[in-house]
Amino acid sequence: MIIIDGSEGEGGGQIVRNSCALSLVTGQPFRIINTRGKREKPGLMRQHVTAIEAACAIGGATCEGVAVGASDFSFTPGRVAPGEYHFAVGTAGSTGLVLQTVLMPLLLAGGPSRLVLEGGTHNMLAPPFDFVAKAFAPVMRRMGAGIEMRLVRHGFYPRGGGRIEVDLIPGALAPIHCLDRGALLSVAGTALFAALPHGIAERELATARKLLPDWPERSFAVRELPDAQGPGNALLLEAVFEHATEIVTGFGRLGVSAEALAKTAAHRMAGFLESRAFAGPYLADQLLLPFAIAEGGSFTTVKPSQHARTAADVIARFTGQRWGFEQQPDGCHLVRRVSGDAVRDR
Ligand code: ATP
Repeated sequence: MIIIDGSEGEGGGQIVRNSCALSLVTGQPFRIINTRGKREKPGLMRQHVTAIEAACAIGGATCEGVAVGASDFSFTPGRVAPGEYHFAVGTAGSTGLVLQTVLMPLLLAGGPSRLVLEGGTHNMLAPPFDFVAKAFAPVMRRMGAGIEMRLVRHGFYPRGGGRIEVDLIPGALAPIHCLDRGALLSVAGTALFAALPHGIAERELATARKLLPDWPERSFAVRELPDAQGPGNALLLEAVFEHATEIVTGFGRLGVSAEALAKTAAHRMAGFLESRAFAGPYLADQLLLPFAIAEGGSFTTVKPSQHARTAADVIARFTGQRWGFEQQPDGCHLVRRVSGDAVRDR
């Protein structure tokens, strides 16, 4: 049994999701103590419980001690069964985070799967639908996995009610090298909003335009969703390169002005555009798991986050593989496997 101290490194929920995925892929049971030990309110939250339950459902797994607030639980994997699954993530829990938990095991299963996920589609501190569909999924397709996803209905915090559908066709997941993102092909800034004053979206776009002066006027647009999908707001800044796409999202919330949200998002996008990195900070922590499952490959990224370093630590515990981050002369970091045998049981 692998025992993980959930207060190490990033000390958050990603350790839980990555452990479930790696356990199902490698067939090794695990126990996490001090779950989410670095968070203000430690222990499992509703969304983590849903993610573990989803992992149990697809993987014939059993778990002990899983409950909201629990800090110590164990997980014993079974056999992953492809098929049709429907997971409802509480009111506005992130559908993207549940997908993170079950995606890799299902992509290695013996047949296609269809997932219907209900909850939040654009949640703070989680990958929004657009990011998964446009930044993450294309890399999976390059590795050989079939992944198509549709956003049926948006869901924002706190109301939720969103729905995404994902079709998966397993593939061998080949190691690939993503060092060069290629030339910038197009950019877009979209202010999504539902059941909120139109002016919020206009103010976000005005700020983003000012801070991204090279982006053409026509690349900015307001997208109003039906009132029933709100209230909610997100600013999506998208840069499409020949071999990579980056999406920076600002999530509207009470107490943060439209201008402040747009300023943070635009600065992040400008920083990414200035670098030569293939993956932004979020994509980098999310790519480590599939790359480790592929047992190799490499990509470049901006300064590695604590999330990325912690993902690498959890991967090392389950697979023996060490993934390193080496700064390059151009300031990018090269992420690649530096040692260790892979332990995959299927
Ligand atoms: P906790 O409450 O413990 O922090 P959590 O389970 O909500 O935990 P994290 O451990 O912080 O989450 O992990 C969040 C995940 O969401 C990471 O994989 C990160 O890359 C991703 N993520 C967060 N914000 C974004 C964003 N704006 N775009 C894309 N991905 C994001």
